[in-house]
Amino acid sequence: MVKKMKEDFPSRSGNKNSDKKQEPGSGEHEHVASSMKERVKSVIDKAVDTDKLKELSHRILPGETDTYNAAHSSAPFYDQETGVSAVITPGRFDSLIRSFLSELASGDDLDIHGEPSLASALLDDAWQANASDIHLDSEHDHIRLRLRIDGILLDIQKIDRTNGQKLINQFKAMALINPDTKLNIEEGRFTHELEHDQLDLRVLAAPCINGPKLTVRLLMRHNVEQQFHELGLSRENREKIETALETMSGMFLAAGPTGSGKTTTLYSLLHKLKRFEGNIVTIEDPVEYSIDGVNQIQVDEQHDLNMASGGKALLRLDPDCMLLGEIRDADSAWTAFNAAASGRILLSSIHSHEAVGVISVLRNYGISNQDIAANLNFVIAQRLVRKLCMDCRREEILRERDRKWFDQMHMQAPSSVWYPQGCKACKNIGFYGRTGVFEVWMLEDRHYEMILNNKDVIAMRREQEKQNHKTLIDEALDKLKEGVISPMELRAISGYGPLVRN
Ligand SMILES: [Zn+2]
Repeated sequence: MVKKMKEDFPSRSGNKNSDKKQEPGSGEHEHVASSMKERVKSVIDKAVDTDKLKELSHRILPGETDTYNAAHSSAPFYDQETGVSAVITPGRFDSLIRSFLSELASGDDLDIHGEPSLASALLDDAWQANASDIHLDSEHDHIRLRLRIDGILLDIQKIDRTNGQKLINQFKAMALINPDTKLNIEEGRFTHELEHDQLDLRVLAAPCINGPKLTVRLLMRHNVEQQFHELGLSRENREKIETALETMSGMFLAAGPTGSGKTTTLYSLLHKLKRFEGNIVTIEDPVEYSIDGVNQIQVDEQHDLNMASGGKALLRLDPDCMLLGEIRDADSAWTAFNAAASGRILLSSIHSHEAVGVISVLRNYGISNQDIAANLNFVIAQRLVRKLCMDCRREEILRERDRKWFDQMHMQAPSSVWYPQGCKACKNIGFYGRTGVFEVWMLEDRHYEMILNNKDVIAMRREQEKQNHKTLIDEALDKLKEGVISPMELRAISGYGPLVRN
């Protein structure tokens, strides 16, 4: 601790007094540090309102109420019990608090009685329930706990204010978010050890009118590495992608609306590429999973680090493979094409409902047909759908509403399909887990020719149909026939975009 304090304190030659107090091995200093740590710990443990932390900061920084908040001022650090003082800037104060939080969180002693913390217990439960997110919302006189399971947000419990606040404080502490900050949305991350695995967690804390709102996203490291085979790709598509990855160059795009699992697909491809590609860099917003051996950078708009500028900077690191989180405007599109044109493998995601639609999105971003044809190799369009619970799904004659849908789509309807029912295993939801539905498009010479001749998306779709290309609907239909999904999911996929059939 003494060492930490030494590092953290600014040595100001202008303030002889404080310098004197920072002698190595100063017993007084150690006392200040530990008493400060105790106070931070008690704020978290006792779940008192975060205002207490402000009070704490005033005790450490006596004087003006707004001293701590004034961004550029420095204030005397003074401990009333010991009379030790030093000069400390507000930023330094913040980092000190964080370092204590870090120690408290890693030391597993967040709870004074030595029991596992509420937050750890909740994480274990959420993981057991297969949840992807935990939501804690402040309401009138309680905190509402919800879990997102298979994409659906479920109400779990109302927690009284005291325990709810304690939970929120514990999560903030583990994510190294200063419990005192109330004005901005803050983000932090940490890892939680499970019995046989490790959870990466991302915490977002936002101030709302009723009090703090906290979301915790559960990202399983183990899963990401395993996931390529579990994405839901058909065997044919999996083989196509694996072949493409072996000879990969140029640009690879994952297309789909928000929440369609594009990031998971890109990460699982990164894991595969990691085996044979040397230097892999990413720029993401946000970094959703941390991957060993990959240099990941987080977009920071406040400091002008966006997809475009960050991507340009990353090129100077001489990567063999680069992941640009998302092509979302003309700037990021240009960055992506520059990277691919310089011989790198470029992975990115793009907002488009179907594979060929990517061409018109890129044209809209001002990318020329020549550039598209020269660099774009591979597009995966995808959706996430709920899987039927295998324990209770029921085979039935196609219901009237679903039959009509098949008629409208000019598709032959299967006579019977599987419908959800609900049982103990699926908590009466009828669905369990999710799977991806994929359209895999490897561009070939005839497609490049059409792009260069400025053919529109409809013409290109017709060309695909002639070649018996499998669309998202075709892939979803396979899953329907296998009894993996219900007609509801099939209809949802078609609702997303103009998936016209002849
Ligand atoms: Zn069930």
